Amino acid sequence: MYTMGTLLRHGSAEQKQKYLPAIASGELRLQAFGVTEPTSGTDTGALKTTARLDGDHFIVKGQKIWTSRAEYSDLMLLLARTTPLKEGMKKTDGLSVLLVDMREAIGNGLTIRPIRTMMNHATTEVFFDDLRVPAENLIGEEGKGFRYILSGMNAERILIASECVGDAKWFIEKASNYAKERQVFGRPIGQNQGIQFPIARAYANMRAAELMVREALSLYESGKNPGAEANMAKMLAADASNEAANVCIQTHGGFGFAEEYDVERKFRETRLYQVAPISTNLILSFLSEHVLGLPRSY
Ligand SMILES: Cc1cc2nc3c(=O)[nH]c(=O)nc-3n(C[C@H](O)[C@H](O)[C@H](O)COP(=O)(O)OP(=O)(O)OC[C@H]3O[C@@H](n4cnc5c(N)ncnc54)[C@H](O)[C@@H]3O)c2cc1C
Repeated sequence: MYTMGTLLRHGSAEQKQKYLPAIASGELRLQAFGVTEPTSGTDTGALKTTARLDGDHFIVKGQKIWTSRAEYSDLMLLLARTTPLKEGMKKTDGLSVLLVDMREAIGNGLTIRPIRTMMNHATTEVFFDDLRVPAENLIGEEGKGFRYILSGMNAERILIASECVGDAKWFIEKASNYAKERQVFGRPIGQNQGIQFPIARAYANMRAAELMVREALSLYESGKNPGAEANMAKMLAADASNEAANVCIQTHGGFGFAEEYDVERKFRETRLYQVAPISTNLILSFLSEHVLGLPRSY
């Protein structure tokens, strides 16, 4: 999964040897990604969870929110502040990435509380109450964690974008099949251009998004950090799946709302990607600033 992109790129040889083969073989289960906090939101540099070095351990204190899969994960990649913010310091400096072994941590300073959401996502709140994490679990250098996490986030965006393309394909196929079968006024509804055109447009937008996903992926696979392409892929694919979801529910008329057709479920699920793992506004801000050279808006 995307989470371990950070370990793969920035971990030590010992850390990779210890964890990656066991992850690949399935011996180690899922991994969680502990970045977002309740009070900092998208402003990651403002996070408040701290990790203080005490001998050969970090002592972690704070809280994360929206930590998906935490209950089912053996490991968590955690971003915490290891150097207190001082005047003149960039707030994205002084953050570090720690690998938390959830099997040891739960009940020993780490508590998980599930959050019920509008779709089945197994996301949680995680509380750190003087959790002890071995110092050897620091990934890369102390204070440079934000940069390491960003490269993992590119992998996450590409993965989610691929998922959105798959969702869009599912909606388009489901809508097309239904439009061929459903007879109203004595003919298939798919014979009406008012039904055909939105599905055809959703298909074209999905294909365009898919090309951007491939571009981002090939750059990432060649060892680059394709921030712009990963962000664009995620935005275009999330928009394509959202559009296809709308078209699909509309094509199904009233049956689009019936649980047994599954359309309403996937409609709810795909809506998430307008917000997570990064919201559309923040992608547009990134492109404005870093690609177009416009003034930073926040
Ligand atoms: C189901 C689910 C699973 C998740 N899983 C994980 C996970 O596993 N690990 C993890 O770390 N996080 C996870 N997240 C968190 C997710 O990444 C954040 O919700 C997302 O990045 C948005 O942050 P926020 O919710 O704090 O919104 P906020 O930052 O509070 O933003 C709220 C709204 O304001 C807008 N906004 C904020 N600032 C600006 C600005 N400067 N300009 C324009 N608009 C702005 C945003 O676009 C958004 O629409 C998950 C979230 C959800 C809902």
